[in-house]
Amino acid sequence: MSESNRPEAAGEIGGLVPTLLDFAEPHLSVERMFRDFCKREIEPHTNAMEDGEILPFDLMRKLANAFGLPEMVKAGFETRMAGDGGGRMSEASFGMGGDPYISAVFGKELSRVNPGFTLTLGASIGLCGGTIMARGTPEQKRKYGLPVLTMEKIGCWGMTEPDSGSDAYALKTMAVPEGDHYILNGSKTFITNAPYADVFVIYAKIDRGGSSKRDKRLIYPFVMEKGTPGLSVSQRMEKMGMRSSPTGQVFLDNVRMPKDQLLGGEERSAREQSKDVFSGEREGTPAMCLGIIERCLEDSLKYAIQRKQWDKPLIEFQLMQEKIAKMYVHYENVKNLVFKQIWLKVNKKRAWKEACAAKYYASAAAVEVAMEAVQLMGGNGYIREYHVERLARDAKLLQIGGGTSEIQLLNIAKDLAREQGYEIMIDGSRPHQES
Ligand SMILES: Cc1cc2nc3c(=O)[nH]c(=O)nc-3n(C[C@H](O)[C@H](O)[C@H](O)COP(=O)(O)OP(=O)(O)OC[C@H]3O[C@@H](n4cnc5c(N)ncnc54)[C@H](O)[C@@H]3O)c2cc1C
Repeated sequence: MSESNRPEAAGEIGGLVPTLLDFAEPHLSVERMFRDFCKREIEPHTNAMEDGEILPFDLMRKLANAFGLPEMVKAGFETRMAGDGGGRMSEASFGMGGDPYISAVFGKELSRVNPGFTLTLGASIGLCGGTIMARGTPEQKRKYGLPVLTMEKIGCWGMTEPDSGSDAYALKTMAVPEGDHYILNGSKTFITNAPYADVFVIYAKIDRGGSSKRDKRLIYPFVMEKGTPGLSVSQRMEKMGMRSSPTGQVFLDNVRMPKDQLLGGEERSAREQSKDVFSGEREGTPAMCLGIIERCLEDSLKYAIQRKQWDKPLIEFQLMQEKIAKMYVHYENVKNLVFKQIWLKVNKKRAWKEACAAKYYASAAAVEVAMEAVQLMGGNGYIREYHVERLARDAKLLQIGGGTSEIQLLNIAKDLAREQGYEIMIDGSRPHQES
């Protein structure tokens, strides 16, 4: 979508592209289309996805085809490749027509219906596809990235290990150089889509021997495909929420990787780029939270008007009014955060602490609103049919995955201190991890 099509983008103020503070046409018509699709095609299959009877991937492809995403992605890809060899593409740069408003509408609408589905889709095209497009060589982008972005193949992104979660760069998966190859050994855990993935982006430390074992500059992403000898996955893990999204472990047992499967070569370490990935994940989370909050608020309001006790609708009771009003306050605040994130992106502003703050606040708000929706609906709120119990369980993951709420707070403090010229160190020898 071109800038000039945006209602408030008629002129530029002080060199900055103005940003909407609410969705407007044409985003609203996209929102209506997505909502209609999600209601018709995703919601009816949600219980089956939650129970593991069906996988989300065919529905992802159906969604992509319904909105012409594969064609858009391919056209955008060829144009970019003809220009600068792809540069540092991300899926957002062409997958959604390059419009961050559309990406936000997409994340919100999917999450109103099924946040687990959004998680799986985001891990595949955003984390896996986005990393390949941001870092890969033109050949790697075409061979591994493009089929993930068109959703022909399913991707996963593996950083977390059994002994390194928040302290992500303390990972132990090692890549030992051997002639034209690396030999990879290690394991990953909690990896979204791993049990069914076709394409794996796996982070490993290149073993240069000696004292460099904790050196973050030696951590790199490798791209590999299902069926690679020595690469195996676990069954899907049983989880509290996000049950539509399969999660699993990845095992690397003497996996022999040709050197050209190190994404983008050894010149650029993963540190800079994975910070982009974490940042992208954080930017995407508020839109997911907004979808959860919006749906809980709407359902709660309807319920409070319809349900009677003591011959009065629940909405007549001030304690229930308080719940609805507080849900709305969170809705407004999270919506504003979504637009602030878009503004930062459109204006190419550095947004590390802002993204951490937005993720921290929005995920806490989503958990609170969804739990209050359960409370407002009483026994019905606890029953699957009423939807909000699942949204409450799903929302909790958003305070853990992509960096926990505690880590977001540490990052914010660290960034604020750094702006004053003070570097906070976690153990006196190395800066605190920003996973
Ligand atoms: C459903 C799901 C999907 C996921 N998908 C992926 C994926 O696709 N790819 C991937 O790589 N990872 C994925 N993860 C992993 C996720 O990113 C990690 O779970 C998360 O970063 C936290 O790491 P951890 O679980 O090891 O917790 P830990 O790091 O062990 O943290 C445990 C607790 O200690 C706190 N803590 C840790 N360090 C500090 C500190 N310095 N100060 C204060 N408190 C601290 C944490 O905030 C947390 O409350 C997924 C996880 C889940 C549950």
